[in-house]
Amino acid sequence: MAGVVETVEPAAERQEFAAEVGRLLDLVIHSLYSEREIFLRELVANSADAIDRRRFLALTDPAMALPEGAKVRIVPDKPARTLTIADDGVGMSRDELASQLGTIARSGTRAFGEALAAAKPEERPNLIGQFGVGFYSSFMVAERVEVLSRRPDSTEAWLWASDGHGFTLAPAARDQAGTLVVLFLKPDCEEFLDPVGLETIVRRWADHISVPITIFRDGKDLSANEGVALWRKPRAEISEQSYHAFYRHLGHLFDTPAAIIHWHAEGTLEFAALLFIPGTAPPDLFEQDRRSHVRLHVRRMFITDQAELLPPWLRFVQGVVDTEDLPLNVSREMLQATPVLARIRKALINRVLTEFKTRGQDSAEYAKIWENFGAVLKEGVWEENEPRKDLAELLRFRSSAESGLVSLAEYVARKQPAQEAIYVLRGEDPEQLAHSPQLEGFRARRLEVLLLTDPIDAFWPERLSEYGGVPFRSITQASADLEKFPLAVEAATDDLSAGQADKLAARLKSALEQRVSAVRPTARLVESAVALAPADKGPDLHLQRLMRRAGRNVPAAPPILEINPRHPLMQALAATERSIAEEAELLLDLARVQEGDAPADPARFAGRVGAALAASLSRPASGKEAGGGSLP
Ligand code: ADP
Ligand code: MG
Repeated sequence: MAGVVETVEPAAERQEFAAEVGRLLDLVIHSLYSEREIFLRELVANSADAIDRRRFLALTDPAMALPEGAKVRIVPDKPARTLTIADDGVGMSRDELASQLGTIARSGTRAFGEALAAAKPEERPNLIGQFGVGFYSSFMVAERVEVLSRRPDSTEAWLWASDGHGFTLAPAARDQAGTLVVLFLKPDCEEFLDPVGLETIVRRWADHISVPITIFRDGKDLSANEGVALWRKPRAEISEQSYHAFYRHLGHLFDTPAAIIHWHAEGTLEFAALLFIPGTAPPDLFEQDRRSHVRLHVRRMFITDQAELLPPWLRFVQGVVDTEDLPLNVSREMLQATPVLARIRKALINRVLTEFKTRGQDSAEYAKIWENFGAVLKEGVWEENEPRKDLAELLRFRSSAESGLVSLAEYVARKQPAQEAIYVLRGEDPEQLAHSPQLEGFRARRLEVLLLTDPIDAFWPERLSEYGGVPFRSITQASADLEKFPLAVEAATDDLSAGQADKLAARLKSALEQRVSAVRPTARLVESAVALAPADKGPDLHLQRLMRRAGRNVPAAPPILEINPRHPLMQALAATERSIAEEAELLLDLARVQEGDAPADPARFAGRVGAALAASLSRPASGKEAGGGSLP
């Protein structure tokens, strides 16, 4: 018909991979050459995931319903030299094929390349999964890959094809929904056409996958995995290797778990749970959504990983819970309302806490778990009333008294008899904190101080309030306590008298005016001349700093400048008649610097220090006597 323009989709439009992808392919192919068989693990895992996702969508969308006997089929074809992996999963639309298979999933090529270079050869296969580049591993064994896919809720099928450099997309036909990945194997990869060899690979890598996997052999689909979910088997029948493979599959993890917790609950609640405490902290531990992604299965079928089966302060725990007590067609609404999940949750928390407690008895092993996840557990002390007492037993601290980690029970058992508080000092950097002048007076009296450096430490001690009847107290608020305890080491110099010290404090205060709430002599300092303390009853200086950094307006009164009446500098200052205004400013800035803060005016501070140095150097060397310790 004249005048009618037909728009015809070209049979196949060719698109180049992004430059990044080409480089990534090279990396995958070359660095993993000796482990080529893992392409099968990756493709089977993608297919199993696709079936799980379809089952989940079917809960709310009948168009997604899974066919009877949904599975992953592996079909080798020797004459054609192709290997096909087919599944009844969610499939991919045209756009999904282009975006999921033509781009890099989670991280860039560079990060991947660096990680590969740093990894030991045996760790490399796990990096593929961790970086979300599993699909590309098919090019290790194939010179051409075709993906034919149709979503269950669409009648359109599409064919994606690639030789590893670019890809084409063309309309196609397929009566069944799901995805077919066809690998045109390289000449030296014919070993992957042998059904027996394929079965060995599947058993090695995919035995834990609960979706049925078959391999086509002698005209039939033969089951290649046992089809029994790993968590349903008794512990004694599971090898450590299977546990580890499952753990890695769960969350794209690549390390070895620090603890495996596997049990079957029977009685009023019936469920199987397999939980893992990871061996390393994930990089997004404090950035992610803080939600637990422990997977919920009902009678082996995956339902969701959004059921929040553990609280946010156990979000690092990975695993699976499989219950008999919910119907298979459970809806989202039911998941939110059912008391079954609340009861399972409680049982899981108790079991995980017991595991931590048991692990706590081996301090070297526990120290590793604590370094990774201690800060997250502390969130539980802050957030949750019920397990707070149990969590208190799990806490560990660095201390002013020794280099290892200390529990609250140990601290309370060895504190001094007259000591009425658990002393804590908060800051950011453990090294810096260990040398803080705030500790001097406590060290000199052999009073142990717990050093708290996680951001959450600003909050939870007030919630827990006490341990074994002994309250927590910040040492920045505990100057007065020190008078009860004699110095363990005698100070070399004589103190200023109380009258002299008060008079000096008053002179400094009048020089510093409103920049400090007060100046007062303290017993807290031994070596340092000065230190800062929060205004009486005001929030800790560290907390004020955190709040200011978070952009909050902190209406706290200015700090108190504490002076050490035993310090030669104070004695020299007390002896001089002239104005000590410059020295007062310098002392306040020094106190700030000791806290890890910047001086109020860094340039003026530098100027004052320079002038003081010049003056002390130009003075005759005899100035060690009276006034020798003074500033200019
Ligand atoms: P990852 O699995 O880590 O996301 P892959 O490179 O293995 O990375 O796969 C990329 C994406 O391609 C998957 O996230 C998924 O969306 C899609 N995909 C791959 N294989 C299939 C499949 N058989 N069925 C449906 N989608 C798939
Ligand atoms: Mg994958």
